[in-house]
Formats: sequence, structure tokens, C-alpha cells
Amino acid sequence: MKKLIFAIALAVFAAVGGNGALAADGQYDLVILHGRVIDPETHFFGYRNLGIKNGIIETITEDEIAGKEVIDAKGLVVAPGFIDTHIHGITKLGRKLSLLDGVTTALATEFGVLDVDKFYDERKKWRGNYGATVGLDLARMKVLDHYTAQDDIEWLTATKKVAEKGASNWSTKIPTPEEEKQILALVKKGLDRGAIGVGIAVGYAPAGITAREVYEVQKLAAEYGRITASHTRFGSGRPPQEFVLGGDEIIANAIYLGGPALFQHFHNADWQLGAEILEKVQAQGYPIWGEIYPYAAYSTQIGSSFVSVENFKANGLDISKTVLDPSTGKFLTEEEFSKLRKEHPNHLIIVFSRKKEDIPKWVALKGVFIGSDAMPALDVDGNVLPEDAPYEKIVTHPRAAGTHARVLRVARENHIPLMRVVANMSYWPAKRLGDTGLEAMQKRGRIQEGMVADITIFDPKTVKDNADYGAGKNGLPPTGIPYVIVNGVVTVKDSKLVPDAWAGQPIRYPVR
Ligand SMILES: [Zn+2]
Repeated sequence: MKKLIFAIALAVFAAVGGNGALAADGQYDLVILHGRVIDPETHFFGYRNLGIKNGIIETITEDEIAGKEVIDAKGLVVAPGFIDTHIHGITKLGRKLSLLDGVTTALATEFGVLDVDKFYDERKKWRGNYGATVGLDLARMKVLDHYTAQDDIEWLTATKKVAEKGASNWSTKIPTPEEEKQILALVKKGLDRGAIGVGIAVGYAPAGITAREVYEVQKLAAEYGRITASHTRFGSGRPPQEFVLGGDEIIANAIYLGGPALFQHFHNADWQLGAEILEKVQAQGYPIWGEIYPYAAYSTQIGSSFVSVENFKANGLDISKTVLDPSTGKFLTEEEFSKLRKEHPNHLIIVFSRKKEDIPKWVALKGVFIGSDAMPALDVDGNVLPEDAPYEKIVTHPRAAGTHARVLRVARENHIPLMRVVANMSYWPAKRLGDTGLEAMQKRGRIQEGMVADITIFDPKTVKDNADYGAGKNGLPPTGIPYVIVNGVVTVKDSKLVPDAWAGQPIRYPVR
């Protein structure tokens, strides 16, 4: 009898659970065994087993544990899922590429979206976590060009459609007081609908957006305590339009207004000064951060204001060695460049304007987010490709497919601490955005008990990017990232998408 009571007590204890060592078989939905766990917040880096249940990391233990699904992570690093603060291609294929690159959360912050409800509603069945700012440039399109972004929320399609109408007020017109009121009302509406902040791509409309308009929009974001993310004004390395002056504008407003700000892809001309300014304001406690991606070339539409023959010449750049057409994999001559710019201003180009030697220096920066600036995965004619399209068909900047693996490879090759780069790709964006009150980010970016199980598992010895600038190579996925887990669901397995994994959640403020 005594024996029986003891057995019952033991069974009850096991059923109640909570202790990994005593967990019965199948207690956890998923266990990740024998991996080297890295947690940038606590600076922990050691061998542990993880038990995951209901999308949450329930146990981190040295004990043997069992679960319904098992990942053997021997020889692999178990890191917080990567949070990409700058993505444009939130199409199904674009999101697939970033998931294969370890990104569990992708945020469209630069151009943002206009119809915030629509953005979130359309992604109810989505593979990775998703979020967006409300975009000033799109609000300007609606008010100044009467373009209602009903069908497409991606800036690329939006700018194309506006250009087809022959309209360009969004980028060149200084609004009347009445128009400005309408623009601000649209931005405010986006914030009320839970946008994670405002996106001010003033670099695309430097002649139309006044300093006061930037200030007023940042003021709105600051009133809500949310970020201003900005592709800042100016794109030159020389006076009077030095790139870093555009950063100063956003940073100064953030200080005046007490709001958080993100200086996007600041690894342009005089990036060392940008990095020093960011360090100084952070040392004084201001919530102002920077973001880079690890490529010497940028990508944009050939008609963009800062992509001009004059600007290239002023900066000593030879167009025939600077501007690549990814649809052909060839550099454009000055003549071809001018023709394409005039006739097809929305054509995507790749511009080699930065120094390759600086890549490891950007990757080594402390507390700087990695924002891939992923462009949509389009075909050679500029059409959106389906999720299962062959990778060779994708025409884009390789950053859409390889940013995070590249950071890990560059770190390995240059002896940059893994803790630092993993922090830049996961913990820092989660911490900074979480500090603005964004609850979904307070529970991510950490491998700790009680945190959301967004996890990226990679091989530190072999992980590398494969996407490159040559034709047919732009969208090649990386190697060495075998598993990506989103909200506890294995979404990438053996470096391939799991077909029925749709665990993505909205990253959004409560709707007011
Ligand atoms: Zn940009």
C-alpha cells in the first residue's frame, strides 16, 4: 500500500511538472538538446538543453529532457531569433529569404505602411513575426498626389504607380498648411492603429519635406513614445549635402522632443562621425540608435533624388564602375545610366559607393542594429515572385538573402566576438524597442526562461552567405543556419522552410 501511494505521489509530481529533470516524456512541445546557448542580456554562453512549451522557453537546464519534437543542436549555437529592423520585401518570398537567414522578426520601418490595419490583417497567416511603422512618404503620396495606397503597401509598387501617373509631389512639393494638417492626421491615425513608430524617408524627398515637417512628425511619434526611423536627408560625402548632416537633423529633433530615434543605414560617407555621435548621445542616456547592413553597395531605384550623375561626380565616383544593373549583372555606362534614369526611374540598381575594407568595422560596432534593408524579391521584369520561385530567378540586392549569415561569417573571419554580433542582431533591437513600451519586444531577443521561443540555430564554424551581386545569385540562401523557430514552432528545418509552419505574430502596439 505504501508503495502504491508513493507511486501515485510520484506520478502527480511528474504531471504537475515544472522541473526539467523530472519531466515525463513529451512534457515539452519541443526540446533543443546539446547546443551552446548564447544570451546577450546575461552574457551567458554555455551548453544547455531547452524545453519549449506553448511557444515559451519553459526550461533551460543541464539535465536530460524530453519532448514531442527534438532538435539535436550538437556543435551548433542556439541564439535568440534575429530581429531585422529594416525590411522592404515583406512579400511571402522576401519573408522566406529572411527566415532562411535566421530572421524571426522583420520590421518595415523605413517607408513603413499607410494602412496599418490592412498591413496586419493581411498577415494573419504568416511565417515570421511582422511589424511596421506608419510612413510619412506614403501619407504625402496620398495627400499630395491623391494616390490611395489601397492595394499595395510596399513603397516600391507605390512609387512606381505614382510615377506612372506622372505625379511626383510626394517627393518635391512643400505642402500647404492645410495639406500638412492632412498628412499629420494620416500619420497620427497610423499611430492610433498600433504602428510601431513613424518612418521618415526624407532622403527620398529632400526638396519637399521641410525641417519643420520632419520636426512635427517626430513630435507626433514622441508624443506616443514611439520610434522615428529614418533614411535621412542627403546622400553626398561633400558639403553642402553631407550625409551625416541628415542624421544630425533626426538626432537633434529626438533630443529636443525626448523621443526614440533610429538612424538607418548610417554606414555611408563619414560613418565614423555618425558612430561617434551615436555613442555620445547614448552615453547621455538618449534612446537614439544606429543601424547598418554589411555590404559595400547599396540598392535603390535609379530615379531616387540622391542617385544623380552630379552626385557621383562630386564624390569622385566613376559611374561605369559604380552602378550595377542586377537584372543583367553588368555595370551601366554613364549614357545607359542617364537613359534608364529618365525612362525607367523605378528600375532597381546596385551602387558600389562604400569601401569594402570597412565591412568588418561596421560589423564590429557595439550596440548597432543589423537592418538588412531587404528589397522585395522580384523577377527580371520587376514582378513579385511567388514563395516557391527558384532562387536563381530573384533579382535583388544580395542583402535580402544573406545579411545575417554574412555578419556571422565576417565576425568569424575577423575575430569579432560572437556575443557582440548576436546582440546586435537580436538583443539590442528587442531591448531598445521593448523600452519604448512595445510589449512583444520585451519578451524576445533573449534565451531565458519565460521568454518567447524565437530561436535561430547556426553552425558557428561554417555559417556563410551565398547571395552575391552576379545575375542568378542575388537570392541564394545562406548555409549553416539549419533551424529557425518562431513562437515555438520549427519554421526552418535542415535549412528548408517547413511547409505548414505559420506561427508569425504581429509586433504592434495596442490599437487606440
Ligand atoms: Zn533607405
